[in-house]
Amino acid sequence: MTAVPFLDLRAAYAELGAEIDAAVGRVLASGRYLEGPEVAAFEEDFAAYCGAEHCVAVGSGGDALEIALLALGIGPGDEVIVPSHTFFASWRSVSAAGARPVPVEPAEDTANLDPAGVEAAITARTRAILPVHLYGQPADLDAITAIAARHGLAVVEDAAQAHGARHRGRRIGAGSLAAAFSFYPGKNLGALGDGGAVVTSDAALAGRMRLRRSYGSRVKYRHEIVAGNSRLDELQAAVLRVKLARLDEWNARRAGVAARYLRDLHGLDGLALPVVAPWAEPVWHLFVVRSPRRDELRRRLADAGIGTQIHYPVPVHRTAAYAAAGWPPGSLPVAERLAAEVLSLPMGPHLDKAAADAVVTAVRAAVQPRTPTNSPRPDGPPST
Ligand SMILES: *Cc1c(COP(=O)(O)O)cnc(C)c1O
Repeated sequence: MTAVPFLDLRAAYAELGAEIDAAVGRVLASGRYLEGPEVAAFEEDFAAYCGAEHCVAVGSGGDALEIALLALGIGPGDEVIVPSHTFFASWRSVSAAGARPVPVEPAEDTANLDPAGVEAAITARTRAILPVHLYGQPADLDAITAIAARHGLAVVEDAAQAHGARHRGRRIGAGSLAAAFSFYPGKNLGALGDGGAVVTSDAALAGRMRLRRSYGSRVKYRHEIVAGNSRLDELQAAVLRVKLARLDEWNARRAGVAARYLRDLHGLDGLALPVVAPWAEPVWHLFVVRSPRRDELRRRLADAGIGTQIHYPVPVHRTAAYAAAGWPPGSLPVAERLAAEVLSLPMGPHLDKAAADAVVTAVRAAVQPRTPTNSPRPDGPPST
């Protein structure tokens, strides 16, 4: 039995160890650990990679979202439309800015924010729409930006799972007002700790975000606004530069695993595979299947040595943190159904053919109907 962990980050280090060690050694010897040349170079590289004019590196993906919202002037009394089906951080960034997250349900097939529900959620207080490119699948940006333009709203993209993904051939972040990325270790572009960034093609917005990551100052000790700090450090930036050079290759390997799963898990009873929208070139941060008997499937895979995860088991409106926010149980049924049915299979650039074989075999065995009880058994009476 081949055991397959859900994700093993040691394999990424094993592939790049020598380069990462050299990058880390260079920073350690430099004596410069914050606000130095590595961050500046990474910002330039990542902006260019995304096709954006500017990149503002910060301390985490959550901070990236919060800083983008604050720099757009969003605050108390404002509303921001968020997907009901997403990671907690998408909603929390809105709350952290002092505004109110207003959830809209996802499309059943893609699990991404359904533009059809957005217009009905807009009120006089709405200031922005925050689509999430969930699982590495680009959201329906054409429809979302058209609605935003009609109502004079900002679009702040949560691209924490979508480094390198393309929407109609353009990278996520290319020409965006603001697209926020996370460099959490397990993300497609992952640091060896926390990190995040916002890319934008709006120079003034980039300037306001830079203020917000450094105590409101451009020049040391001249504080223009009351703001905290949130910084990517030189060590993480140096590591990210090494990994950015591999991102396309690693995303292509993920796509290879996804193609294999899509081919060999196709047509199984009670198992829905991810749907790729016609405008989307996903980067397969996660490969998420759906099953009405998800928990049983997960148990059987665990018995076969296959690690899985659930993204996410509790919808944000059902967490204790948002229990009193005005979205009682049952009010967002699509998000609740997804939370009960989604299952993430092992996925990553280091999942080799033997591992993918083992996942396919185990999933097929777990969802295939068992041998019918009326078939002849060696110890039973002969069938007539
Ligand atoms: C990871 C993630 C975040 C938060 O990123 P951190 O770097 O962990 O703060 C936000 N949104 C989504 C969708 C994520 O997956």
